[in-house]
Amino acid sequence: MSKTLVYIEHTNGNLKRSSIELLQAAAKSGGSVAALVFGSQAAEAVTSAAHHGASEVHLVKDASLDSYNPEAFTANICAVVEKVQPSILLSSASSTARDLFPRVAARLNVGIASDCTELNISGDTVTAVKPMYSGKCFATANFQNSSVKIVLMRANQLPVGAADTSKTAQTVEHTVQKPDLKTLIKEVVKGASEKLDLTEANVIVSGGRGLKEANGFTMLHELADVLGATVGASRAVVDAGWVGHGMQVGQTGKTVAPSLYIAVGISGAIQHLAGMSGSKVIVAINNDPNAPIFQKATYGIVGDAFEIIPKLTEEFKKSLQH
Ligand SMILES: Cc1cc2nc3c(=O)[nH]c(=O)nc-3n(C[C@H](O)[C@H](O)[C@H](O)COP(=O)(O)OP(=O)(O)OC[C@H]3O[C@@H](n4cnc5c(N)ncnc54)[C@H](O)[C@@H]3O)c2cc1C
Repeated sequence: MSKTLVYIEHTNGNLKRSSIELLQAAAKSGGSVAALVFGSQAAEAVTSAAHHGASEVHLVKDASLDSYNPEAFTANICAVVEKVQPSILLSSASSTARDLFPRVAARLNVGIASDCTELNISGDTVTAVKPMYSGKCFATANFQNSSVKIVLMRANQLPVGAADTSKTAQTVEHTVQKPDLKTLIKEVVKGASEKLDLTEANVIVSGGRGLKEANGFTMLHELADVLGATVGASRAVVDAGWVGHGMQVGQTGKTVAPSLYIAVGISGAIQHLAGMSGSKVIVAINNDPNAPIFQKATYGIVGDAFEIIPKLTEEFKKSLQH
């Protein structure tokens, strides 16, 4: 029987949606599912990991793993993999994981498929699909002669069903590995936003160059506050320095799949669409009726964002108060 180890990303023991997607996908495949959790609050994640499909949860409960360090994380993942001997290792394709798992693959001398959007597990055989050239074509990856098959899945690509609260898991604690580090994280400076990360958000209001300047985002934040949404952006405005890179949606930014994506003053370049076309409902607001974004939009509003957004904010305020 195949054994899948899922690397869990969490905040204070709360599992990220992307990790839940992977646990449930692995559980559906029928093999045994183990979860791997790092950090001083790792134990807080055990119940949730069990409810979503893990029958074993491996913990490395050490504060040295609270913040990401590539060398420390690589050493600890490799040590657990050598003990647990999974045939499949899954993680989300977060920016941390995309830095970490190529190191793990090299250290273990095994294959890795990164940034995948489809996953098929049948026994020990894994097939993963990844978009190439901004989604213009898709490559199917299989593994050959790889004792562990590592797949990094983009967030929001797999369905999430209800948790099964009757399920429990066996926990296994591992001794932390403390390799001689060549780099040391001295401080982690959190962004000012208290909002959900884009990859977790259910509603996103995103702005592009049509907002004219950094101040144009003020009205988007007001609309987002009313809707309980997270604010995203196109690369053009990130490159212009109007907002931080953490807000960028697209091929070289984040992949999102909210229930509602409102694109304001964004033309709809293929690289932007690559990151948001999985959204359930897309509303485009643009003053050019021929903007490519309208081809993807569920609803389109042709007009000036500076007139439309304040009106929408007022209307949502009124209707959401009732
Ligand atoms: C390798 C590579 C990777 C890339 N990765 C990404 C990525 O990850 N994410 C990304 O977004 N882009 C990415 N890009 C850039 C992408 O090609 C586009 O340049 C970018 O998405 C354009 O951003 P924009 O839509 O904000 O700006 P523009 O293309 O300039 O569009 C601005 C839009 O605003 C509209 N507008 C203007 N004034 C108003 C107004 N008053 N009211 C309403 N609408 C108005 C205009 O009609 C226009 O459609 C990448 C490019 C490359 C080459």
